[in-house]
Amino acid sequence: MADAIARPPTATLQFLGAAGTVTGSKHLIATDRARVLLDCGLFQGLKALRERNWSPFPFDPAGVDAVVLSHAHIDHSGALPLLVKRGFRGPIHCTSGTADLLEILLLDSAGLQEEDARYANRHRASKHVPALPLYTTDDARRALALVDPHAYGEEFEVAHELRVVLRRAGHILGSATVDALVPGRVPVRVLFSGDLGRYGRPILRSPETVREADVVLVESTYGDRHHAADPSDELARIVIDVAERRGTLLVPAFAVDRTQELLYVLRSLEDAGRIPQLPLFIDSPMAIEVTDLYARHGEDHDLDMRALVDHGRSPLSVPRTRLLRTSDDSKSLNDASGPMIVISSSGMATGGRILHHLFRRLPDPSTTVLLVGYQAAGTRGRALQDGAPTVRIFGHEVPVRARVAKVDGFSAHADQSEILRWLGEIARPPRATWCVHGEPQSADTLAAAIRHRLGWDARVAQDGAVVPLD
Ligand code: ZN
Repeated sequence: MADAIARPPTATLQFLGAAGTVTGSKHLIATDRARVLLDCGLFQGLKALRERNWSPFPFDPAGVDAVVLSHAHIDHSGALPLLVKRGFRGPIHCTSGTADLLEILLLDSAGLQEEDARYANRHRASKHVPALPLYTTDDARRALALVDPHAYGEEFEVAHELRVVLRRAGHILGSATVDALVPGRVPVRVLFSGDLGRYGRPILRSPETVREADVVLVESTYGDRHHAADPSDELARIVIDVAERRGTLLVPAFAVDRTQELLYVLRSLEDAGRIPQLPLFIDSPMAIEVTDLYARHGEDHDLDMRALVDHGRSPLSVPRTRLLRTSDDSKSLNDASGPMIVISSSGMATGGRILHHLFRRLPDPSTTVLLVGYQAAGTRGRALQDGAPTVRIFGHEVPVRARVAKVDGFSAHADQSEILRWLGEIARPPRATWCVHGEPQSADTLAAAIRHRLGWDARVAQDGAVVPLD
């Protein structure tokens, strides 16, 4: 027996990001023949984390055979241009929804990197002269050329007999769980949740059941939380109030998923006669493009969404929707008066066109600002949520006379009970379950819940740790 224990593993898994934190998702599966990276995300948020993007990868990018992407969010995909810039030449496997979203998100991310470098050079804000972007639009285009889209449920070979099936995760368009069969002395089934979505929410299908896994990597963003109930009633109340006061409802919202879910809920409330029909402006070129993708990718739609589309309806717009593509379109809103709804990014009011609307309309008491997502500490969205009397925009202290409302219950991430529901459908207890993609408190709480409720061996993944798969 001692000999068997001493034998080195033939396959390993290494956590290289999103371990003890929620960004930088990267996990490396290595066998004696294949090296496959699950996700290749950018670190985001605090400076110490963002600086990790500039360090060399702890592996040779040229030695990686392939990447398998769970979904297109930048904290899961945003380091792909960097991987290619540093020598990776293999395929990038994902679903077709993810492939389409990547085209928008990676080019946008590269544009932001280039903008940061230009800003640093103008203001001499970098100790490096000249400051260079982390990666360029050309690097992003080279990464996009390697993308290899697959259908949900299709089994394909990634590298040297390592095979993968992508299944619906219900988180954003194209999001998938990754079911990898890793060859070795004994083949091992590794299941990666990616970011797990919700059950019974509009537009996207719920997370698909997976019955078998030997080793599980599960996200834990909300591993210590339970989401509020359906936000529709609350949203209806706010829209009616805005209509009665002939005001403007300003909604900072993420261009991917949150905007589409809001549109869907507003449309259903209008169709049910629960809110008046108001003019609605989508002031974000990215949100407009992404909404178009959401409408086109029928393979991601749940039954209600499919039925509406089959009946020739447009569930992702209200009858009085106007799409504001150019900045002149956006400026034309300046003189418009309510009642009306304006949805614009960014979701935490850290940048984007929403700033112009906030600048102009926060001093007006007939305005309502509606927060529909998590507002990180230090953002304008958080300041508004906390009742700040003024917020700083374009170098001015803008007085907040608008009402600020917050609706909970919109979330693209499963909460603890939804994560346990998805895991609980695995028939036999996996040999090991690793909690990734969570702050320490939520990852710890989820691991404890898995141990107590499911009786499995569950632990929190440590950054950089290598664990044997066989
Ligand atoms: Zn995500």
